[in-house]
Amino acid sequence: MRNLVRQEVFDSSRTLIIKIGSNVLTRGDDQLDEDCIRHLSEQIDRLIAAGRKVVIVSSGAVAAGIGILGLARSPESLPALQAAAAAGQTHLMKAWGESLNRSGHAVAQILVTVNDFRNRRRYLNVRNTIRTLFDFNVVPVVNENDSVSIEEITLGDNDQLASMIAAQVAAPLLIMLSGIDGLYDGPPSGPTSKLISLVEKPDETLLSHVTAEQSSRGRGGMSAKLSAIIDATSGGESVILANGRAEGILDQISRGDQVGTLFLAAGATVPAWKKWIRSATRPEGKLVLDDGACRAVVAEGSSLLAVGISDVVGEFDQGASVELVNSSYSVVARGLSNYGSVDIRKILGRRTAQIPELLGHVPYGEVVHRDNLVVTDVSRSAQLGTSRD
Ligand code: GLU
Repeated sequence: MRNLVRQEVFDSSRTLIIKIGSNVLTRGDDQLDEDCIRHLSEQIDRLIAAGRKVVIVSSGAVAAGIGILGLARSPESLPALQAAAAAGQTHLMKAWGESLNRSGHAVAQILVTVNDFRNRRRYLNVRNTIRTLFDFNVVPVVNENDSVSIEEITLGDNDQLASMIAAQVAAPLLIMLSGIDGLYDGPPSGPTSKLISLVEKPDETLLSHVTAEQSSRGRGGMSAKLSAIIDATSGGESVILANGRAEGILDQISRGDQVGTLFLAAGATVPAWKKWIRSATRPEGKLVLDDGACRAVVAEGSSLLAVGISDVVGEFDQGASVELVNSSYSVVARGLSNYGSVDIRKILGRRTAQIPELLGHVPYGEVVHRDNLVVTDVSRSAQLGTSRD
C-alpha cells in the first residue's frame, strides 16, 4: 500500500544512508549471503539510476570472519574479534564490489573509529572523501574499523555509526535494514503485537516498546537501534527501519510502500556544525542550569551565561564538550564550553560584569555561546542555527 508521507520523505531525500545489519548479510552458518548482497545491490543500482546518492553502512565483517577463521561461534576475546573483523572485512568488500560492479558501480571502503568523528579535522576529511566519491559515482561502503578500535569493539555498533554518517553527510533519510520487520508495540512474535508503521515524534518513550526478544544477533539490538534512531531524528533525519531480508525491500521503500516503521525527523534540520557537536563530541562534564537559564537556552535559543549556572560536574578544559542539564539533571543541550571547569566554579551564579574581578579577565561573555550549543530536548527547542559547515 502506497503512503503519501512516505513518498514525500523518500522523494525529498537525494542522499540516502542504507545501513545493513549482520543478520541480513550472513547466513546462520556465518557465511556471507552473497545472493542477498546481490539482490540489495540490484536495488541500490536502481536507486542510483534514479538520481540518489547512496552510502552503504555494512556490518557483517565479524560474522563473516568467524566463518573464515573456522571458529564455532562469536569469539569473546578482543584479539579474536579483531582478527575476525580483519579477515571478514576483505570478504565483505569483495562481495559488495563484485555485486555492485555487475551494475557498473565501483565501490570504496571507508573504515572509521569513534575518534574519526570526535576529531573535527578527521570528521571533515571523511565527509570530504564521501562527497568526492559521489562526484566520481563510486559507492562508499562504510564500517567501523573494528580491528584497530579498542574501546569501540565492545561499545560501538553500526546503528550509531549510520546515524553519525547521516548527520555527517546531511542525508535526510537513513534506511536501517535488519532481520526484523520494524518496531512492534510488544514482543514481535506475540499474537497481539502489531507493527508500528509511523512514529511521528520519536523520543525516549519508544524504549518502552523493547522486549528482550527484540535483541538481534548484530551488536546493537533493538535498544541500540532506537537510541540511534532518536539521535538521527532529533538531528533532522528521518529513519525507516525495515526487514532487509524481505524481497525487494528497497524498491518498496522507494515506491513509498508502507513497509517497516517510519520515524519522522523532529523539527528543523540542525546545521552541520551543531550536528557534529551533538553526535560526535564526547561530553567531559555537566553544567547544571537554573530554571530561567534552562528556559532561555531551550525555548529561546539563548547562549548560556555564568549567572544561569548553579553547579558544575566533572573536570574539563576550555573548549571541552559539556552537557547542559536542568535542575533534575536531565540533559537538555550539549555545547562547547568557553571556560574550563575550574574557572566556571569561580564565576557560576555571577553576572558577566563581575567576571573580571573574579578571574582577572573576561575571555568570553558567554560560558557556552549559542553558535556552539545544540538543544537535545527538541520537543521545546527553538534550535536556532548558524550556517557554519
Ligand atoms: N562492525 C561490525 C561488523 O562489521 C558490526 C557491528 C554491528 O553489528 O552493529 O561485523
